Amino acid sequence: MLVGLDDTDSLTGGCTTHLTLRLLAAVPELALAGPPRLVRLNPNNPRKTRGNGAVAFTLVRPQGPPRVVGAWHGERVLAYPQGAPVAATEALLDLLWAAVEAHAEPDAGTGLVVADAPPPALAYWKAVRGQAAAPDAGGLAHRRRGDGWGLVGAYAALAWPGPAASWELIAYRAPQRVGTPRAVEPAPLAALDRAVTFHTFDTAARRLACVPHTPCPVLAGLRGRDAASLLAQGLPALRSAAEPFDTWLLWETNQASGDHVTPVQSLAQAPPWGTIEADAVVLDRPIRRAGGHLFVSCKDRTGARFTAAAFEPTKGFRDAVGALRAGDRITVVGPVEDGTVRLEKLRVVALANVLVKEANPVCPECGKRMKSAGAGAGYRCRTCGTEAPPDAADLHDEARTLKPGWLEVPVGARRHLHRPVAWTMGL
Ligand SMILES: [Zn+2]
Repeated sequence: MLVGLDDTDSLTGGCTTHLTLRLLAAVPELALAGPPRLVRLNPNNPRKTRGNGAVAFTLVRPQGPPRVVGAWHGERVLAYPQGAPVAATEALLDLLWAAVEAHAEPDAGTGLVVADAPPPALAYWKAVRGQAAAPDAGGLAHRRRGDGWGLVGAYAALAWPGPAASWELIAYRAPQRVGTPRAVEPAPLAALDRAVTFHTFDTAARRLACVPHTPCPVLAGLRGRDAASLLAQGLPALRSAAEPFDTWLLWETNQASGDHVTPVQSLAQAPPWGTIEADAVVLDRPIRRAGGHLFVSCKDRTGARFTAAAFEPTKGFRDAVGALRAGDRITVVGPVEDGTVRLEKLRVVALANVLVKEANPVCPECGKRMKSAGAGAGYRCRTCGTEAPPDAADLHDEARTLKPGWLEVPVGARRHLHRPVAWTMGL
């Protein structure tokens, strides 16, 4: 039986991944078939709560050798890859829903969906790249409450075809600590990013990116590309670095998949609330505005003009973007809002030759430096009256600091779905 769950939390607390443990406890004769799945959906969706993450897992009757995928108050959470299938029934749905009613945040628009087989993967792609029209569970057995929008995420999480783009080991706080400041030592965890994890430490801001700042029960989440090394090295490192915890779960995720990005020829093709990847040409020197935000005027392949923006929280990324010049060929990646692409990544495809004026021209008649005759009007000699066109000036190629290749925002400004540039390059 497949179970999909979404929108159990609110902006003030709760956590859908933690609630999964309550659902497991509600059906003690059943067990996980494998690690549960944390499925991130469209990060620009205006209806999202925090990270727009839904969960899905498969329940079976225990059978065959188990593997450890977590712990709950010190007791191992086991998964049975060879477990016997269990049919999705209204009775089981009721048991799971009772756990939701007892533990989910009261103001959340929760959706719970059960199924015997996954829905078509198209439902996942729609929910990760666009925006659903209405809450819908595709005819599957479900329960909902509040505005019921959680059904969309629950259904989409069931539809995620995988495979895992990455894994996340989430540790949960002891109940009496929830709401107090989290005690986590940065150094041992920062070191993990060299081989075991990614996005654990934000080197630009010099702070941990794996610890939330909301009043939710999550202590920390270690993200990695290999589940075995997360368990073998990440878990002990977290134990030594953090306040005591006895509850954790290993999640299979679509995080760092880049699945939210839709390649388009023109911004006009962007899905509602979508994130696009499009080729473009820079039209002007970037402009820095109040608040430290940087704006670049561009045109896409159809010639349509748009603005690409690097906002203040992208920190050093703005300096690289600010070095763009008219004529540079680029690829932009980011969500589109009111005709502006909020840059998540930028690829410098080809740099233009940029001519800059070194000095006014020398008069060909008398050898004196000529003066400007006004903007775009060329030059005029004040001594003998000779005139010269604008391109008569001494020009030279500007030394470009940019190099062709991908740039990306710093760790602290990345989406859960952000695929690191280094992975795209096959590193
Ligand atoms: Zn002259």
